[in-house]
Formats: sequence, structure tokens, C-alpha cells
Amino acid sequence: MIRFLLVCIGALWLLRCATTAEATATARKPDIDWTTRYGVLLVDPDEGKYLASRKGSHLADTRPDGTAVTVPAEEAKKRRDRGYRTIQDPPFRYIDPEISTRRKSNDPEVWWSGYKDEEIVEKIVRGLATAYPGDATLFDIGKTHRGRHVLALRLGSRAGIEQRPSFLFDGGHHGNEPLSVEYVLDVMRTLLSSVSPVPGAPVSPVSLSYLEQRQMREYLDNFQIWCVPLVNPDGMNVFWNRSQIAGRRNGRELDGVDLNRNYPFYWNSGSRNASSDRPGSTFYRGPSPGSEPETKAMMNLADRQRFVVSLSYHTFATKVLVPYTTDGAISPVPMTGWRFANELVRAGRSNRPDKNYIAARNLYPVDGTDQDWLHNTYGTLAFIVEGSYQTPEFATGGLASIRGMRPLSLRALSLYANGPTIQVKVLDHSGKPARVRIRRLDQALLEQEHFETHPLTGTYDFILDEPGDTAIQVVFQENGKLRQILRTVHCSTGVCPVTIRLTSDTDNLPW
Ligand SMILES: [Zn+2]
Repeated sequence: MIRFLLVCIGALWLLRCATTAEATATARKPDIDWTTRYGVLLVDPDEGKYLASRKGSHLADTRPDGTAVTVPAEEAKKRRDRGYRTIQDPPFRYIDPEISTRRKSNDPEVWWSGYKDEEIVEKIVRGLATAYPGDATLFDIGKTHRGRHVLALRLGSRAGIEQRPSFLFDGGHHGNEPLSVEYVLDVMRTLLSSVSPVPGAPVSPVSLSYLEQRQMREYLDNFQIWCVPLVNPDGMNVFWNRSQIAGRRNGRELDGVDLNRNYPFYWNSGSRNASSDRPGSTFYRGPSPGSEPETKAMMNLADRQRFVVSLSYHTFATKVLVPYTTDGAISPVPMTGWRFANELVRAGRSNRPDKNYIAARNLYPVDGTDQDWLHNTYGTLAFIVEGSYQTPEFATGGLASIRGMRPLSLRALSLYANGPTIQVKVLDHSGKPARVRIRRLDQALLEQEHFETHPLTGTYDFILDEPGDTAIQVVFQENGKLRQILRTVHCSTGVCPVTIRLTSDTDNLPW
């Protein structure tokens, strides 16, 4: 009975991080998760040696309680029925033992040949910063409960980079979703492959056509592209070395927090099953809103950058989620993310026979998510991007999913550039960038959104759903009085820059 319950809990967990099984009877179902192909037996050393020598099996570990051997799933089931001990929820290194080879290697080709743990991710990020000093800058944005660093790589040519629009790509909020990390690493690798590295630097560029190379170069020259491939390195360490299920959460004693339930917007919304107040739950939201160091690191970064667009990767529902994803939260009307999301899914390739990317509002009840907090606080077009596989064998489903995500990820950059995008810059009386409240007058904001121009650059971007006129309202304080400026801006395509100066003949509020 207990085993049956464990299987049910495991199955429930898989469903929660993904979507319902939509595969039809006619479609061939791909191996979306490598783990399902194997079982892990716990036997004495002698039998361990014998079993590990058989086809499709390998020695996984020598433990105080026995020798762990990874065998094909059917074999494991057969032996379990005959009374063999098995390991439920084995650490992922039992499934992918080559991780130890990749960890020890100093060859970037080897690092890129399979899934990465937190140490390899760090080597790659630091390696790229060293290899491309003109276009990649390393930032240490926070320290986890267990002393690991949350690392960000800012991509873009250096001159004037702080003035440009910021984009965010992040992965690994859930440490047991290594494919989500791969999607971000692939964005970094692809963009930087358009640049020559420092000779002898540890890199493994992808090959780009001449046109692609020019396109990537353009992105690096026009944007600042922030990549945080692994938000939750503590969880990833647990995933590889202790438990795939527990690896979802961060390193807080004893059981960890689900970081994507810890952001302040609609934290503990009261919606049933959206998150849990129980430490030890897979969906534990943490003791208070934004309590976790990883959440704080991401929030501080967002506050400095005011991202225009963010893609936060997860696995594996094959969907792009549009804010607000939380039940009960009322999205701005009209909500501008839908055109963008639909264009993203059109660009992505799931590389699965049974399912393509689609845009949706949510999968199941959630609250305290990063995407909703980003949208509510800064107006960021913030998407959760659920990849097309869980953790498939890397060389087959893994690479297929990563390659299919690449055009989706890059589309986020081209969509901004193709517009219609209104790029507002607000200057004060003396011509300096001004921090003011700003909004579209044709959009109803129903969750107390207070959008502001960037404090350092005075900019704010509106990515529109369709060409036409947009009325923009700027609100600011002058001599203790609230004042406003209204400006109608026409934008049909591309980026339409507009400068608004705060002048003294401005309307008084209230009007
Ligand atoms: Zn996830």
C-alpha cells in the first residue's frame, strides 16, 4: 500500500510540473523522461557486479545499505515483484552516470555533451565571461542557503549597454528541470557564437550561417540580454545526488521552498492547491513573500534592469504561459502578451510527434510566481516557457528539445525589434532622465500596477499588439503637486522612439 501511495504521489508530482497527458492513442509517445526507462535495485556487492555487467545496466553506486544497480525498467519491475529492494526516486546521477566524467573534464565539448550539474553550469558561465570579455559580463547576483552563487551573464557589446532595453532568460527555478537550464545556456552559446573568442578560451561555439551570425551580432549591439541559467543551484545538487523530487525546491533547511511560489504577487493567495504552507510539501511557498535568497536575487536584478521581456523556462508542458497565470488575478485589459506569446509558439518546435507548443494562461492553480510578479511590478512581458520534454535522454530528446526551443527564444528579441514597440524616454527640466509613473490610457490596470520609467535611463517600452495610435500618460510630482502629460503616439512597425519632456505648462491632476 505504501509503495502504491508513493507511486501515486510520484505520478501526481509529474503531472503537476507538466500538463495532463494529452497524447492521443494514435500518436507515438516519445520518451519524455529518461528516468522512466530505468529502475534502480539495491543488492549485495556480488550480485551487483553480475547485474551491472548485463546489457542496458550499470553500477550506479556503492552505499552503506547495498550496491545500487541501474537496470531497464521492466527488469527492475520483475525483480521487485520477486522481493528485490528498489530505490524509489533515485538521484539523477544513477540514471546518467556520465555526469562524473563531464564534471572532471576541462574540455567544453565534453561539458556540452550532456546535462550539466551546478558545477558545470558555473564553469560554462565563467568560461564564457572570460572568452568574450567584450560581449559577456559575469554578475554574482546572490548567495544560496548552502553558500552557492547565483550567477548571471549579461550579453551585449559594452559601449552604452546600460542605455539599452533589457531582456531576461532564466532557468532552473526548479532544480530538477535540467532541460530548463539548457535552454538558457543555448541562448548564451548561440548569441556569443557570432563573436570571436579570446584565443585558447574554453568555448564550444555552434555553427551559424552568415545571416544568423549578423542577426546575433545585431542583438548583441542593440540589447542587453541577461541570462540566469540556474536560479536554484542547491536544488540541482540535490537532484543529481539525493532525490529528483526534492531537487525541485531550494536549499532551505530541511525541505526547501518551491521558488516559483515564493514571489510576492498573490503569495499565499488562498487558492486551493496553488501552493502549500507546509514545509516538506513539493509546493511549499516559504515562510514569507520573497523570503528566499534566490527569489531576492532575481527581484533585485529585475529592480535594477526593469526587463522589457522575460522568458522563465520550466519543463515540460510544451506551453508559453501568459500573465497573469494566478487564478483570481485580473490581467490588464487589453492584455498585450497574447500576440507575443502566439508568435513565440509559432517559432518554437517541440520536436515531439504528439504535441506542439501552444500559448495558454495556466496549467493548474499557482500563486507567487515570478512571471506574475514581474508583470505586476514592472509591466514586463513575462512568460513561463514550458519546454517539450521532462529530462529525456540527452543525445536524442534533449538535443531535439533544445534545438526546437532556440528559435522560440530568439524570437523574443526579434519581436521587440519588429514592433510595433513604443520606446518612451522621459527627461526632466534639465534634460536628465526622469523616474515617473507611466501607463497606456487605453489599458485598464486592475491589480494596482504602478509602472515607472527606468530610474537611470528614463525609459519605458510598450510592446503593442497592433499598429496604430496609443495614448500615453506620464504622471509626476512638481512643487508638491501631481501633474500629468498626455501624448498620443503613432507606431506602425519597428521601434518608435518618443521623448517626453517634463515642462511647467503641464496639466494639473486630478483632471
Ligand atoms: Zn518547473
